[in-house]
Amino acid sequence: MEAAPLLKSSASAAAFRASSSLASSRRIGFGRRDVTLLRPVLLVRPFCTDLADGLLGSGSKRRARGPVMAAKKASEGGMQEEGKYKHTVDLPKTKFGMRANAVVREPEIQKLWEDNQVFKRVADKNTGGSFVLHDGPPYANGSLHMGHALNKILKDIINRYKLLQNYKVKFIPGWDCHGLPIELKVLQSMDQDTRRELKPLKLREKAAKFAKDTVKIQMKSFKRFGVWADWDAPYLTLSPEYEAAQIEVFGQMALRGYIYRGRKPVHWSPSSRTALAEAELEYPEGHISKSIYATFKIISVPPASSPLFEEFLPDLCLVIWTTTPWTIPANAAVAVNAELVYVVAEVDQVLEDATMPEGKQKKLGSFLKTSEKKPFVIVASDLVSTLESKWGVKLVVKKVFQGSTLENCRYIHPINGKECPVVLGGDYITTESGTGLVHTAPGHGQEDYITGLKYGLPIISPVDDEGKFTEEAGELNGLEVLGAGNAAIVKCLDEQLSLVLEEPYKHKYPYDWRTKKPTIFRATEQWFASVDGFRQMAMDAIKNVTWVPAQAENRIVSMTSSRSDWCISRQRTWGVPIPVFYHVHSKEPLISEETIEHIKDIVSKKGTNAWWYMSTEDLLPEKYRQSASEYYKGTDTMDVWFDSGSSWAAVLGKRDGLRFPADLYLEGTDQHRGWFQSSLLTSIATTGSAPYSCVITHGFVLDEKGMKMSKSLGNVVDPDIIINGGKNSKDQPGYGADVLRLWVSSVDYSGDVLIGPQILRQMSDMYRKLRGTLRFLLSNLHDWKTENIVPYDNLPKIDKYALYQLENVVKTIKDSYEVYQFYKIYQIIQRFAIVDLSNFYFDIAKDRLYVGGTASFTRRSCQTVLAAHLLSIVSVIAPILPHLAEDVWQNLPFEYVTGDGSAAKFVFELKWPVPNESWLRMPANDVDFWRTILEMRSEVNKVLENARAGKLIGSSLEAKVYLHTADGGLASRLQELCRAENEADALHRIFITSQVEVLDSLNTNFVTSIPYAGNYSDQRTSDIWIGVCRADGMKCERCWNYSPQVGSFTEHPALCARCYDAISVQPLPAAAGVV
Ligand SMILES: [Zn+2]
Repeated sequence: MEAAPLLKSSASAAAFRASSSLASSRRIGFGRRDVTLLRPVLLVRPFCTDLADGLLGSGSKRRARGPVMAAKKASEGGMQEEGKYKHTVDLPKTKFGMRANAVVREPEIQKLWEDNQVFKRVADKNTGGSFVLHDGPPYANGSLHMGHALNKILKDIINRYKLLQNYKVKFIPGWDCHGLPIELKVLQSMDQDTRRELKPLKLREKAAKFAKDTVKIQMKSFKRFGVWADWDAPYLTLSPEYEAAQIEVFGQMALRGYIYRGRKPVHWSPSSRTALAEAELEYPEGHISKSIYATFKIISVPPASSPLFEEFLPDLCLVIWTTTPWTIPANAAVAVNAELVYVVAEVDQVLEDATMPEGKQKKLGSFLKTSEKKPFVIVASDLVSTLESKWGVKLVVKKVFQGSTLENCRYIHPINGKECPVVLGGDYITTESGTGLVHTAPGHGQEDYITGLKYGLPIISPVDDEGKFTEEAGELNGLEVLGAGNAAIVKCLDEQLSLVLEEPYKHKYPYDWRTKKPTIFRATEQWFASVDGFRQMAMDAIKNVTWVPAQAENRIVSMTSSRSDWCISRQRTWGVPIPVFYHVHSKEPLISEETIEHIKDIVSKKGTNAWWYMSTEDLLPEKYRQSASEYYKGTDTMDVWFDSGSSWAAVLGKRDGLRFPADLYLEGTDQHRGWFQSSLLTSIATTGSAPYSCVITHGFVLDEKGMKMSKSLGNVVDPDIIINGGKNSKDQPGYGADVLRLWVSSVDYSGDVLIGPQILRQMSDMYRKLRGTLRFLLSNLHDWKTENIVPYDNLPKIDKYALYQLENVVKTIKDSYEVYQFYKIYQIIQRFAIVDLSNFYFDIAKDRLYVGGTASFTRRSCQTVLAAHLLSIVSVIAPILPHLAEDVWQNLPFEYVTGDGSAAKFVFELKWPVPNESWLRMPANDVDFWRTILEMRSEVNKVLENARAGKLIGSSLEAKVYLHTADGGLASRLQELCRAENEADALHRIFITSQVEVLDSLNTNFVTSIPYAGNYSDQRTSDIWIGVCRADGMKCERCWNYSPQVGSFTEHPALCARCYDAISVQPLPAAAGVV
């Protein structure tokens, strides 16, 4: 199904048209060999490389670089003799620079892509199925941070990989544009008078402008990250098309009975004056509440319990504990757990205030201080001793009984004097803290509300939007519940002799995530989505989604199973209206298929502003227009999570080339309670299925020490500064987008990830080395033509082994892309391209490439291998490093033709490398043998290093290596390599020495005559003895190898046989290239 890269495809005809030129090149090769064989020459030579630091560049300095050095010296006007053959040396040549100059070059490449519409061009041309990654909309507020960069670059890596895999990829970027933060920004930009006179439409106009401006700024940054998307047609939650789709989702849910209006406690932010969703809360450290123990006096007991309690009346009290004294006026019951054991206890030996164990913070109430008679209290049995030490009293247990006995006892409310019941609550009543008896205010708590429903308790909530008591609270009217209100209640309880103890209490308490102020729980009239109505469907759908990492499924399961009904209404202006009318008298809401259809239609043309500027009459459909005067339109807006949670309907369901469900959603782990969930709920409620097939989550970005980034700590890493550099270019150089992207690929994003200056320097280093690898490939293919290709079967063994490794690497990288584990790709590339290649294959290749002879078999087969590497590496890194890959492609010295016969002008037209099964079929014992050779090579290098340190040799080419092994099989394979008819497999070339000899036997005299020696052995081989002495013969002026043949050619007395052959067939002097 994919285009076949010429070099690797066995199906590619062009690859084999090369055979004629190949044949001639081989003929030359054989001719030379014949000449060579006539002379008494060791066909085996070694050389040396630095072993330890094999990274490209640094390690190669002391290696044998005869031809390069000779040519360089000559070009620099060195000794005439040394430059004599410089024109016959094939030096690397390319315009592709060592320095990325990313700050300048990357924007040029991005312009190239944009001018040529490369993303669209490639996606349109692809013939595979479609791939839809649906973008979670970032909030259009402020500039981008590292979290945005991590998120969008991960998405881009996946999209680009899928493009290479022949998918038709379409990526529509989105923005979340409504909501309180933007509304607040607009309001904060005005003085108070302007604010007071501000009309909703004016506010909405300013908010829309703010959002659109922010979208522009963020879009520019995303583009600079190199992210490919349909930037000309993003989705904005404020666009009429989007808003209409959202209203349709709301309407469908309403018509299915999943939307209801109810008076119910919700998280309320007095500072924002709106209800908040769970996802809009945060729980900062260090919140301290005023907690109290208070008594409620029992006034009657049901007949069945009478014998148990009668003797203690009228001095018997229930004791409750609360961290929100301000909710006492709304108290409607005390709840107990039927299963717990409770006691009646006499309060004895009240200690003096001064002897209280924990000092000043605690305050004893009048209940303990002023009692003339010893009172009796009811508390949970398990808590008796805890309460004794807390209160500083002795509690003498008089009776023990089950909680269920208390049901229907009645007590008198200490503030309003009303009679209230004791009720049975649920498992939420424990003995972990408090007294085991729970003050129940159904207007101010979720569990209280449910218990209240069970017993038909009144839902009292005498608190207004600003968090102040209302008239319903009598004398408390106007007091802020979290401030003076709380204090007034405590004082009042104390006066009523109901306060036992007051003490500060540190715990987790919900704050408004925008204003950073505490919230309250308060019953208001709100619109809800009834999650209970479709919870089971949602839970079933979760099982059919692939969650990456797998444990993320537990998070979404627990959050979906435990979430209460979703409060979707907000009392704000900047949002999509809840499209509901109310009856003027009955206040009954009106939602019908007709009203929804009509409003949807208006909004799709005019946007939601119409809700504010159009009359109720015009907003009502024909059917109700006659009675328009009986209705008024609502003023609530929708929770922004409903906005973004409808994106599957507004985008996946509406745009060409997309589909529902999406293949993939990818966001931060916090979206389990945010977008992943709101999208799931709206989609399940209206379509019955999840909007995604797969969900990937990533962690947060922390600084290098694992600390959260914050302005006050000064540890914020700004993606824009990573790319373009900061004020001080030494501390903050401009690394470019690819270095940032390389970092994204390097981290295991399934957890939190770290970034900082040190890490960025490492990334930059890795980038530079990878660039060097690619530059080596490009520059040594400067004269490459596809017809020069050497067919696989004719390649030397070392080249087959190199292709075997390459094919394995490409396969492993593909496997890692498929499971989205990019950090593994990073590790593989680091190891392969930077360590393996430059330490081994490239190191050896230089001799073949530079002095092997321009059109020689050894050079052409090496170039065949290099070209395969270039095409594969550039393709597999392209999703992560698209700028680097394109830069390489634009400097490609040959034309690359895709399977359909057209030239690939851009790197993404290259596609993923077609698998070459034959390359992988190298026999296992051959693979093992090459591993042995490689390891032995390291040992040889150590001995050479000793010889160099001992001044026996300078360059490794001045050495001859002896090998001996008692293992006959291994010895004959080594000898076979020494006799290799092709230049490439010869052991001395592999060791980069001038000669290698494998000895049949080893005698003591010989061993002692060898100045430097070592040993190699591993599980696969018996011991191999390694000896090093000076090479035989003289130094060849052209290649710097030593050979006894030097001096035997009259016309060229300074040349070895190989070089003599090479220059004899050299048609024209090759121009010395630029290094
Ligand atoms: Zn030579």
